[in-house]
Order: sequence, then C-alpha cells, then structure tokens
Amino acid sequence: MAVQKRKTIPEVPAEQDGLSGEELFARGKGLTYDDFIVLPGYIDFQASEVDLETRVTRNIKIKRPLVSSPMDTVTEWKMAVYLALLGGIGIIHYNNTIEAQVEHVRKVKRFENGFIIDPVVLSPRHTVSDVDRIKKEHGFSGIPITEDGTLGSRLVGIVTNRDIDFEKDRSRPLAEVMTTDLITAKQGVTLHEANQILKASKKGKLPVVDDQFRLVALLSRRDLLTNKDYPYASKSADKQLLVGAAVSTRQEDRERIEALVDAGVDILLIDSAQGYSRYQIETLRFIKERYPDIDVIAGNVVTTEQCRALIEEGADALRVGMGPGSICITQTMMAVGRPQATAVYRCAKYARQFDVPVIADGGIQGIGHIAKALAIGASTVMAGYLLAGTAEAPGEYFYENGVRVKRYRGMASVEAMTAGGGKRYMSEDDQVIVPQGVTGTVPDRGSLVDYVPYLMKGLQQAFQDMGVRSIPELHEALYSGKLRFEQRTSAAQAEGTVHSLYSFKPPKLGRSPIDAF
Ligand code: GDP
Ligand code: GDP
Ligand code: 5GP
Repeated sequence: MAVQKRKTIPEVPAEQDGLSGEELFARGKGLTYDDFIVLPGYIDFQASEVDLETRVTRNIKIKRPLVSSPMDTVTEWKMAVYLALLGGIGIIHYNNTIEAQVEHVRKVKRFENGFIIDPVVLSPRHTVSDVDRIKKEHGFSGIPITEDGTLGSRLVGIVTNRDIDFEKDRSRPLAEVMTTDLITAKQGVTLHEANQILKASKKGKLPVVDDQFRLVALLSRRDLLTNKDYPYASKSADKQLLVGAAVSTRQEDRERIEALVDAGVDILLIDSAQGYSRYQIETLRFIKERYPDIDVIAGNVVTTEQCRALIEEGADALRVGMGPGSICITQTMMAVGRPQATAVYRCAKYARQFDVPVIADGGIQGIGHIAKALAIGASTVMAGYLLAGTAEAPGEYFYENGVRVKRYRGMASVEAMTAGGGKRYMSEDDQVIVPQGVTGTVPDRGSLVDYVPYLMKGLQQAFQDMGVRSIPELHEALYSGKLRFEQRTSAAQAEGTVHSLYSFKPPKLGRSPIDAF
C-alpha cells in the first residue's frame, strides 16, 4: 500500500482567526468574564509543568495567584495563615479595633519561622502554671529558660510539654522541672546548618546562643515539618508567612497603619470602593513617605485615569473592580462602575507600562474566571465569595434548607457597616445608611487545604489548554496578539455550560457542592 506523503502546510497567522485582546475589548463594549472565551493553543507540556508564580505587588512574589479579600466574613488570621501556606496571601480586614487587627497579623507572622528572634522566655523562678498560661495564649509550650527570664540572658534550661505533662503541682518552679542538658547552636549559624543540628538532635527546639551562652534565638522542629508539607508557602526572607492588612483612608487610621507596620505586616491595602480620591492619595503619600519599604495596594479602580493617579503616588499594585462582587449592589445603587473584564483589561494594560501588577477583585466564581482574569492581564485574583465557605473563613457553619452554609456579607451591607465597615464607602453621616452590599450565605467548601490545590490544579489545566506555561508567558501572548479570544453571545454562553439534560449531578469536592465549576 502506498504511504501517504506528509505535506507541510504553513501555520495560520494569529490575526486570521479569533480576536486579539485589544480587538475584544474595543471601545464601546463593556464585557465581563462570561462574555468571552479564550481560544486553545498548542500543548507540548504537562499541566503539572505549569508554573503559577506571580507578583501580588511590585516587590512581592507568591507561588499561587490567589489573594483573599479584606472582608470580615473572609480574612482573619486563620484564612491568612492557610492561604499563605498554600501559596496565596490573605489581607486582614479592618472592621475591628486596631488591637484586634494587629493580633491577627501577629498570629500569622508567628505561625511559622526560621529563627525565632523574639521567643517567649521564662526564668527558673517562674512556675509550671506560667507555661500553661503561655500555652493558652500563644499555642506553644517549648520555652527556653534563662537566668533572669529575658532574651539575651544566660540560657540555663528548656521546658517543653514533656517536662510538665504529668506534673500535678502546677505551682512548682521551673528550676525543678526543666531540662538542663541542652543541644544548642552557636550564633552565626546559617538556617540550613541549624536545621541539620535540629534534625540530628531529634529534639523539638534548638536554642541559639552567643559565645557567653546567652540566648539569641530559637528554632522549632515543627517549622521544618511545615516547610516540608507546604512547598508553595508564601514567605519572607526570614521564613515568616506573608500577610497583608487593609486600612481606611480616614485620618484616625494613621495610627492603625503604624501599629500594623510595627507588627510586621508585609503589605498595606488602602481599602476604598472608589480609589480616585484626595483621601486615598493622601493616605498613599503618608505611607510612602513614612514607610517606603512597605508595598501598598491601592484602589479600587476601573479606569486608566484612576490608575495613573495612584501609580503616580507610588502604588505597588492596583486593585481593580467596582461593582462585580457577588454581594455587591454598587452598580445598581450608585450608577457607577464598569463590567469587570473590561476594567481588568484596560487597567492591566495601562499599569504594565509602569511595572505595576493588577489584582482582579470581585466576581470570581470559579477556576474558569481565575484563568480568564489572568489571561486579560491580571497578575492575581482577589476572592471573597470563593473562599468565604471554607473552614478557615471566620464564622460557624449552619444549615439553611438542609445545606451546610456560612454567612457571607458585603462590607457595605447594613450589617457590616453597622459593625464599622462603612469606612470604605465615603459616607460621612452615620445616621442614614445607603447599603452597597448585601448579606447572604455560601455553601460549605471544606478546608482550604483541599480546596486551593483543587483550584490550582484546575488552573494549571486551563493554562495547558491555552498553550502557556506561566503567567508571564500568558501576558506576553496577550500583548503580542498571539493569545486569541472570541466574544460569546448569550446563546454561546448557554451552549458553553450544562444544557438540555433532564437532570444532572454537579461535580462535588469533598462535602461541598461546587455551584460554579
Ligand atoms: P530558600 O528560600 O531558597 O533559601 O529555600 P527554602 O525556603 O527551601 O529554605 C532554605 C533552608 O531553610 C532549608 O534548609 C529549609 O528547610 C529551611 N527552611 C525553610 N523554611 C523554614 C522555616 O520556616 N523554618 C525553618 N526552621 N527552616 C526553614
Ligand atoms: P511547642 O512544642 O508547644 O512549643 O510547639 P511547636 O514547636 O509544635 O510549635 C511552635 C510553633 O510556634 C512554631 O511554628 C514556632 O515557630 C511558633 N512560635 C512562634 N513564636 C514562638 C516562641 O516564642 N516560642 C515557641 N516555642 N514557638 C514559637
Ligand atoms: P466576590 O469575590 O464576592 O465576588 O467579591 C469580593 C469583592 O467585593 C471584595 O474584594 C470587594 O472589592 C467587594 N466588596 C466587598 N463588600 C462589598 C460591598 O458591600 N459592596 C460592594 N460594592 N463591593 C463589596
């Protein structure tokens, strides 16, 4: 049989099929994520090879493009800790006192460590009940004991759970129960060397001492294990988890800014629904003058002129979105906003010239929307709805019509504003409240520890279908015109999801029905 000869056919130039980003978002069309679709690219790699590393701000890189929204039903310390361990970053809300917000930040910064340079220390004269108190307050009980109970004084012993587990008399002085044959490391040791000593010692803690045996730092075995379990964790150079915190543009929040910086916050986010204001610019200026090393996320913005003004003042990232949030009624109530995909595309394209990353904030319903937001120029997405039903979000689960749910509310809902959240919405008068958000519920999504890897694996597969291996490569393809899009009619949107069936079972992850998949 004759073998058919393979004919070489020239590649089809990109511009002959589909639309470029610029054509898709041509003036006069306000589009959102469901209004378009990305055309497939060429696959010559595995989905697992897709690298999701990105920048959340100009100077801060994270391994997964996911940021949790500063809302009181989304981000407190637990969300921030687990999201950072899984490669994203959480922004702690400010619908609370300064002390409460600072405590959340501290908890995240203390959760994992390289060298703990300010360990809690006791003296031999303290008692077992002092250790109980520390355990209750901070959650750990491995306490180095120094002569006078301070860091920088001579190390004389260590107390850990095992020394006091079975001690009936909680008033006994630590001198009588502490372990005194100590394995220590010398000041100047590298983290890597110290970890080797810690591993070899089979102990839970490794005190680091100077040449006079004065305590200078502490290492914990648990952190080594955590490091192994969470290879994508978002960490600073000192191996502490990264965390952001939101502040308002009000004068009284200058004190909040100071306290958050003292507590070691990595990113400040200036939280306004409409970020093009004198108040925002003054706040940005204040932070940049006072704390030039802290990266600031400014916003929210949806137009290039808004972007320009905030970039000019030194914004290190822009938060884009006005009205697309699931709990949000701004566009209906205020007549102002912009369809989210157009807002993201326009702002990201503009901000790119200045090397300022854009966060697509609001309206993200699932993996497909994350992929689309990144494909039109965003460097990360910010999620409220998507994360509010996880175990790590604040609040308790309860049942509504037989479904396990958590409460989720807009920060401009009557309920949140009454509790203090109106600070982002420019209303000077607290007597009359015009809400721009609602209160509702979201289904249980199980733990972030399962949910984030699910989202990220899906995202890797989406990238594979688009034929790109990384977020920078995706952005290159977008701006070169290689990445092609198609606009979708409403019939096309209906065709693109489940239809025509008599009934069907939505895919499930763990306990949670995934409503938007
Ligand atoms: P690097 O950030 O490129 O230096 O790489 P790694 O983050 O993997 O860490 C370098 C060394 O520090 C390795 O020995 C890690 O095991 C260790 N390490 C990373 N994170 C932590 C941590 O939180 N605590 C401790 N004690 N060691 C860590
Ligand atoms: P412990 O054995 O009860 O002290 O607890 P683990 O060693 O299991 O966990 C202690 C965790 O708390 C580690 O992640 C530490 O990095 C962290 N941590 C933060 N600050 C301190 C501190 O001052 N002392 C101790 N012991 N741990 C701290
Ligand atoms: P979601 O992920 O739920 O779709 O959107 C979350 C985003 O909605 C938040 O990050 C924030 O920008 C915005 N948002 C939060 N609360 C409110 C609110 O009460 N009103 C409005 N207009 N937007 C809100």
